[in-house]
Amino acid sequence: MQNANSHKKPMGRLPKVAIWVVSIIVIVLLIDFVFQKQIFTFMATKIIQQRLLSPTYKKEDGLYAGLAGTGAPFADINRVGPCIVVEAGNNLYVIDAGPGSARNIGLMGFDMGKVDAILLTHFHSDHIAALGEMMLQRWAGGSHAKPVDVIGPKGVETVVAGFNHAYSLDAGYRVAFHGAATVPPSGAGGRARPFGLSAEEDASIVVIDKEGVKFTAFKVNHSPAYPAVGYRVDYKGRSLVVSGDTVPCQSLKKQAQGVDVLFHEAQQPALIKMIHDQAGLSSSPSLAKITADIPGYHTSPEDAAKLARETNVKHLVLYHILPPIPSLFNNMFLGDAAKYYKGPVTVGVDGMLISLPVNSNNISIKQILK
Ligand SMILES: [Zn+2]
Ligand SMILES: [Zn+2]
Repeated sequence: MQNANSHKKPMGRLPKVAIWVVSIIVIVLLIDFVFQKQIFTFMATKIIQQRLLSPTYKKEDGLYAGLAGTGAPFADINRVGPCIVVEAGNNLYVIDAGPGSARNIGLMGFDMGKVDAILLTHFHSDHIAALGEMMLQRWAGGSHAKPVDVIGPKGVETVVAGFNHAYSLDAGYRVAFHGAATVPPSGAGGRARPFGLSAEEDASIVVIDKEGVKFTAFKVNHSPAYPAVGYRVDYKGRSLVVSGDTVPCQSLKKQAQGVDVLFHEAQQPALIKMIHDQAGLSSSPSLAKITADIPGYHTSPEDAAKLARETNVKHLVLYHILPPIPSLFNNMFLGDAAKYYKGPVTVGVDGMLISLPVNSNNISIKQILK
């Protein structure tokens, strides 16, 4: 007679392991369910403390550039409009206010409430769109009694007056709600600080000279957007240049001589031509016309590389990337740039921090916005 249990297989190793795994998952889920609120509170508190007390970029004395926006008017999943945050010692500045960049400034750990001045290169919409949000965050974030200085070539008065007007109702609501002690009415908006430039093609002017930080504005060629400028920044022996929007020009060549980092706008004409051809085929006449026009007032990666070689810059960072391109295809974007410049070239992406510590030749680049 057969034993009643003889047909049953003994429990194998695998089912036992499976039971353990399932039990552990159930226990973890139960703990998570029961203590969800406590876990969330703990983690949220840590994140808030981190954001408020110790910015992710904090480090030694030096010149720092945060790429809060490296794109151009075309929509780009990795890039908002052009914006570079410059920190030198205890001074914080913003160059250009591309759309979407005000958010990235905060996400990168820079405190908009501590910004000393906003500098504009020119007044195309992709360089000014976030100005209202930046002025608001700087005012409310620092309880300032004076508006932030907005420095730019002549015409900046019109831009600032327009944003001040558009945000005037909002300012009233915030004072009524939070109180004048927190948001002093006199500090809302911006104060335009236009500068003039002489007639020469390579004209320049020092627009900030404070605590060892010097900003020099210089003419570039972005016709018919005129005047348009780039900025050179010097701090305790470290230096950088931001090209603004331009075709290759003499004044940029003059200002970029020997700088640590040249941030140069870049547009790859071969890729723009592909868009142009497709736009023509798909009956998008306005896009076809725009993509035919824009190579006329921007610089290719190859020409930026030539300028980097001629000026002996130590590192070339391309920004204001046109057209949008995933990092996978950076080589396509760079084209023949490596033929002309043997130094390091970085295709900028939002969230990069470039560090130039004083008393050092070191240039480090890291991504702080995931
Ligand atoms: Zn422009
Ligand atoms: Zn632009």
